[in-house]
Amino acid sequence: MTDHSLQTRLLHSDYKFDPHTGAVSVPIQQASTFHQQDFDNPGTYDYSRSGNPTRKALEDTIAGLENGTEGFAFASGMAAISTSFMLLSQGDHVVISEDVYGGTFRMINDVLQRFGIDHTFVDMTDLHAVATSIQPNTKLVYIETPSNPTLKITDIRAVSKLAKANDCWTFVDNTFMTPALQRPLELGADLVLHSATKFIAGHSDVVAGLAATHQPDLAERLSFLQNSFGSILGAHDCWLVLRGLKTLHCRLAQSSASAAKIAEELTKHPLIEEVFYPGFSSHPGNSIHSYQSEGAGAILSFRLRDEDAVRQFTNAVELPVYAVSLGAVESILSYPARMSHASMPKEEREKRGITDGLLRLSVGLEKPEDLIEDFQQALKQIQPYSFLTNRRVNHELT
Ligand SMILES: *Cc1c(COP(=O)(O)O)cnc(C)c1O
Repeated sequence: MTDHSLQTRLLHSDYKFDPHTGAVSVPIQQASTFHQQDFDNPGTYDYSRSGNPTRKALEDTIAGLENGTEGFAFASGMAAISTSFMLLSQGDHVVISEDVYGGTFRMINDVLQRFGIDHTFVDMTDLHAVATSIQPNTKLVYIETPSNPTLKITDIRAVSKLAKANDCWTFVDNTFMTPALQRPLELGADLVLHSATKFIAGHSDVVAGLAATHQPDLAERLSFLQNSFGSILGAHDCWLVLRGLKTLHCRLAQSSASAAKIAEELTKHPLIEEVFYPGFSSHPGNSIHSYQSEGAGAILSFRLRDEDAVRQFTNAVELPVYAVSLGAVESILSYPARMSHASMPKEEREKRGITDGLLRLSVGLEKPEDLIEDFQQALKQIQPYSFLTNRRVNHELT
């Protein structure tokens, strides 16, 4: 099946029908334990924490799509990420993207630190900075590209090469791109991670995480950790993710085309100070992104003046849901300073460009012209700056 395009493989895998009944949907195997035929031959499955047929279908599917050999399904993206970090030991050091997902930032800082696993945050777009951050005890370089929410692009191939030369693993959080647009294992990464809650499942109805690798040693150790922590995805949720995957390609194609249109329109508006979108030829990472990915994706960010402008805009906008999360059929507008990056101290946020005026948009399947019209009416509701400043200054004086 691997000679077909990914678009076709999403629908025609080894799991396209159930060999026992012909059912054109993976059966949900709602069992915690499995009868063992005899003492010496326990069978493939014994207990669902260690293995479950529905989960196996999803795990094989993500492994195939990422061009890996083994996949793992976890209870959430954070469960996949934090379990993978347990491949490290006390005394090890991690080099990590400075604009990493807020939950990963929190886990690295507040949890791993307590277990004696040290880290250095770097600007991953700067290869020299990455090289000089690697220490004798560095075991892992951790990448997110495009990054969240400022959409900086890291050269996966170059960083993986640098990591390998220093005997370090490279892990890539591929949530924003999915294997439909970017396959880090083909570029030299050792492990790819996903919040399947986002584009992979795609319907804002399940929380899930995935991992895939092509290295037997890494797979064996991760399988041991998954079973040890029990951070597994349940059978029903595995089935929801498998169903979502079938439409991944067409959802991303439509949403990405709309995101390109919307990003372009937003740059024309005087109240928008900056638009972040890796599809712009002016984006500093554009050529690397075009080399390593098959599209710019469906996420963009834009900067308004300040928190007041964000409040007025988000109160007026009608179509997108105003929510945490991304990668769904409906467009989602989020405010990183108060949502995904609320756990990051303000000065850390601002260092990373996550100012109080920054909004992130995950484009869904609405007609793009309707979204553009909605944004334009909402932008009209933003009050002129001088009026607000004067009022605030007067208030402070009284
Ligand atoms: C949402 C997200 C996560 C965390 O995934 P959960 O499923 O919410 O645990 C990790 N990385 C990125 C880039 C995300 O967007």
